Amino acid sequence: AKLENIRNFAIIAHIDHGKSTLADRLIQDCGGLTNREMKQQVLDSMEIERERGITIKAQTVRLEYKADDGETYILNLMDTPGHVDFAYEVSRSLKACEGSLLVVDASQGVEAQTLANVYQAIDIDHEVVPVLNKIDLPAAEPERIRRQIEDVIGIDASEAIPVSAKTGVGVHEVLEALVTKLPAPKGDANKPLKAMLVDSWYDPYLGVVVLVRVMDGVMKKGMVMKMMATGAEHPIDRVGIFSPKKTPVESLGPGEIGFITAGIKEVADTNVGDTITEAKKPCAEALAGFKPSQSVVFCGLFPADAADFEHLRDSLHKLRLNDASFEFEAESSAALGFGFRCGFLGMLHLEIIQERLYREFNLDLITTSPSVVYKVHKTDGTLEELHNPADMPDPVRIAHIEEPWIEATIMLPDEHLGSVLKLCEDRRGIQKQLTYAGNRAMLIYELPLNEVVYDFYDRLKSVSRGYASFDYQLKEYRQGDLVKLSILVNAEPVDALAMLVHRSQAETRGRGLCERLKDLIPRQMFKIPIQAAIGGKVVARETISALRKDVTAKCYGGDVSRKRKLLEKQKAGKKRMRTYGKVEIPHDAFIAALKMN
Ligand code: GDP
Ligand code: MG
Repeated sequence: AKLENIRNFAIIAHIDHGKSTLADRLIQDCGGLTNREMKQQVLDSMEIERERGITIKAQTVRLEYKADDGETYILNLMDTPGHVDFAYEVSRSLKACEGSLLVVDASQGVEAQTLANVYQAIDIDHEVVPVLNKIDLPAAEPERIRRQIEDVIGIDASEAIPVSAKTGVGVHEVLEALVTKLPAPKGDANKPLKAMLVDSWYDPYLGVVVLVRVMDGVMKKGMVMKMMATGAEHPIDRVGIFSPKKTPVESLGPGEIGFITAGIKEVADTNVGDTITEAKKPCAEALAGFKPSQSVVFCGLFPADAADFEHLRDSLHKLRLNDASFEFEAESSAALGFGFRCGFLGMLHLEIIQERLYREFNLDLITTSPSVVYKVHKTDGTLEELHNPADMPDPVRIAHIEEPWIEATIMLPDEHLGSVLKLCEDRRGIQKQLTYAGNRAMLIYELPLNEVVYDFYDRLKSVSRGYASFDYQLKEYRQGDLVKLSILVNAEPVDALAMLVHRSQAETRGRGLCERLKDLIPRQMFKIPIQAAIGGKVVARETISALRKDVTAKCYGGDVSRKRKLLEKQKAGKKRMRTYGKVEIPHDAFIAALKMN
């Protein structure tokens, strides 16, 4: 295609503001799919993505649009992942485009997630086309939201387009704006190949599919490509575009977005953001900004039934085929037996993997307390990265510990401000900024990541009745007074419940855990002390009193079948228990105990 007639754009929107619906409309209007082919929401295809309304993979669609000026344009639409865990993937998708379509729900307004992504787009000099969606709703206030976009984001919204992705009003104007406002891509077909690896995934028929944006040069079937970060070389065996169906093409030139396959075995062999060039005629330098993916949150995953260990291992391998951004290694726990220590991009990523293991692989799992990566500076001058509280070195050998901090942006209606401020303060937050746009407050807070990973987002949603939105960026490591909180049941430490906490929180956290465990662990024939301790110092304690009678005693010997039933029930219950020392802990107790209140 001619460069002047190409437009590449990313869609930026907060969850539920209508990104997928609008994308479908654009596809339909350009004749990409007939009505019958048009399955509801072509983008967001993975089941969990669809249910949760989030995009994880950067999907793309090539549209052909006959504009009012009589010319036919190629529009490459790129859907961006809509969650903080995938911020790096968002940055790469944006880099693959020259402009962004900013979709804001005209009945809701700008949200934190929109803000983070639109700032990224502005930073890389994107032309931003704002769209006010859902104007068919009686609650829509396009004029107010137009002013809010100007006040909060600081871009000119005077030409923001009122749209209803539902009825189709304004969709033609959106297509025209894309053609007239966005710049055409630049690039030189005669230079050596330089393309960005935007994303990759595993396709059961094609193997690893790589989504690319060509900057310079031409990509063709048969060419031997080279990935610059790894040095790996592969002959390209397929070149295509998404129309949105996968459609083979001869080649991809400068400014074009499409896919290739090249006999790559695993998604883990490709790195988002890497530069692809031609092996025998490589480009001089790689694209800037490449970052290898890095796990932020770690936790242990153990099969509820120990017999499922091999099945869990196979399932993790299968998931990793398609998601190179999570990692795992075998681990054993005294309490939970054999399992895996896994690393994730963030909490949502963790939940998605957990949910997929449950749904697609039928695995019932016990998850240990999620942990961030700490930097432990030891007295001998060495530095250790700590992913698992169980591996914490002896405190006498520790000089100090550093923990990761984030900068969080929270947007909310001002009536909930008080409770959100309290939540942030309780989590050791440092307020950096508080501004208003109408009746919405925008808060910027610095927070330690370990206070956020577990349940901050759930708490934020609940104290704001669902109206707060949240986004964060990792900021830096800072020294913190962190201690390992151990939980002892019947005087034995339960490794799966150990966690690193700030000293000021240790007692409250410890008391909460002990109280919950007291309710969760069934009474047994003897008294069970439950303690929370820092080193040898007990900071909280509860006792489960002894059970006095045998469970079958109340059957008075007579009813044999009833007695048998009871014993059977007990036996079934046992399977779901972990014996610890002499104490049996129901496996749900681990999960429940870790939920903070
Ligand atoms: P996404 O999360 O940004 O992809 O949002 P979706 O496209 O999934 O839309 C979220 C919800 O808003 C869905 O129930 C849509 O049917 C609805 N929706 C999207 N656009 C419009 C619109 O223009 N008007 C109305 N009334 N509803 C819309
Ligand atoms: Mg969607």
